[in-house]
Amino acid sequence: MKEPYEKPLIKKVQVGLSNKFGSVYGRHLRPEIDGVPISDLVSRFGSPLFVFSERRLREKYRQIYQMFSTRYPNVHFSWSYKTNYLDAICAILHQEGETAEVVSEFEYEKARRLGVPGSEIIFNGPYKPISALKRAVQEGALINIDHFDEIYDLEDIAEELGNSIKVGIRLNMDTGISPQWTRFGFNLESGQALDAAKRIVSGGKLILSGLHCHLGTFLLEPRAYAKAIEKMVDFAYELEDNFGLKIEYLDIGGGFPSRNRLKGIYLSPEIAVPPMEDFAEAICDTLLSKLKPNDFPKLILETGRAIVDEAGFLITTVHASKRLPDGTRSYVVDAGVNILFTAFWYNFKVELEEDIPGPAEPCIIYGPLCMNIDVVAENVQLPPLPRGTRLIFSPVGAYNVTQWMQFIRYRPAVVLVGEDGQVDVIREAETLDDVINRERLPERLVLKMS
Ligand SMILES: *Cc1c(COP(=O)(O)O)cnc(C)c1O
Repeated sequence: MKEPYEKPLIKKVQVGLSNKFGSVYGRHLRPEIDGVPISDLVSRFGSPLFVFSERRLREKYRQIYQMFSTRYPNVHFSWSYKTNYLDAICAILHQEGETAEVVSEFEYEKARRLGVPGSEIIFNGPYKPISALKRAVQEGALINIDHFDEIYDLEDIAEELGNSIKVGIRLNMDTGISPQWTRFGFNLESGQALDAAKRIVSGGKLILSGLHCHLGTFLLEPRAYAKAIEKMVDFAYELEDNFGLKIEYLDIGGGFPSRNRLKGIYLSPEIAVPPMEDFAEAICDTLLSKLKPNDFPKLILETGRAIVDEAGFLITTVHASKRLPDGTRSYVVDAGVNILFTAFWYNFKVELEEDIPGPAEPCIIYGPLCMNIDVVAENVQLPPLPRGTRLIFSPVGAYNVTQWMQFIRYRPAVVLVGEDGQVDVIREAETLDDVINRERLPERLVLKMS
């Protein structure tokens, strides 16, 4: 076969040296995922393809659970649905012992449909419609209140149902990180949280029994969690002393980082991301040093990303290559930011299915969208890739299969590689029917073109 012509170009070739940020060049190969060849996966399920590893997911959960449960006697995990609410992923984590943490009526309904009882659901989020709140109350869900209007809504519901309702309140606070998230819950330092507690107590219809705080996401600072716990324990005792109530749980939310590489951070995740032990230690040590003897309120964690991100891979295929005017090698692949939302934040690991000869050069990888922002990787050192080359992006398990969008393309299949190597489809690739199902064409607009 004739090689395609390409205009000659002089480029500096970098070989296996390191700079202070680590290896600048290294070919990363991934011929398989948990023993299943990439080529098998693509020939059976197509490309692009999301692949989740059941083994990695369960292992990660168990590791993190152990880090906390060996340091504090009353630990409980609740799966953050919005991080990944595919039924199969949720079912695995529920099997492992997690309850469900939901932030909308949609997520609430999805958890219930999957078989999670209301009493095993934590309902967070700033927008809880009254009908959803009422259902959650009747089914025994744990509700963390976001604002004063929600206090009034719940009081109305308590009145209507004729019984009192156990609730928690969401707090926001200064823990030394910036930007500080202030939009969720009641602010601690301004006294707003205390006002909320007073209002709840004086209303006499709600029973304040827990405190919740979700600091942010992809936080790299264990000390921020220690600070949050310190302030939550102080506040819990202040409430207990002043109002004679009992704070039964402290919910520290999620926000723990995964081993992903944030844009703008050049150090590898192994160096830049503190190990999860550091977070567990910061949280549990602070708890044990601040709590009164023999007081062990339930510690709830709603960690999403740190559990699921590294269990997810995306297989893509090179469709075309071109040189940009400045000489940069670029590739068009079949997966863009339509399905890889987190490409806006991360420089993913990009691996080749098999070794490809030739000098590596920094490349940019574009998705299939007709938009300039559709860049899924920049500055990746890659050898000259023929059409049809498979690239594997990771970690992509968090926030992509919930935030993906149907924009000019169908969403691809998602498969799960089981612990015995069995592969199951957990979400089928979309078809035209999925997209047009909800559309209605008024009779007068039916086209009679022939
Ligand atoms: C999003 C969210 C989580 C999970 O956050 P991660 O960064 O995925 O760990 C937990 N709790 C609440 C209230 C959230 O909104």
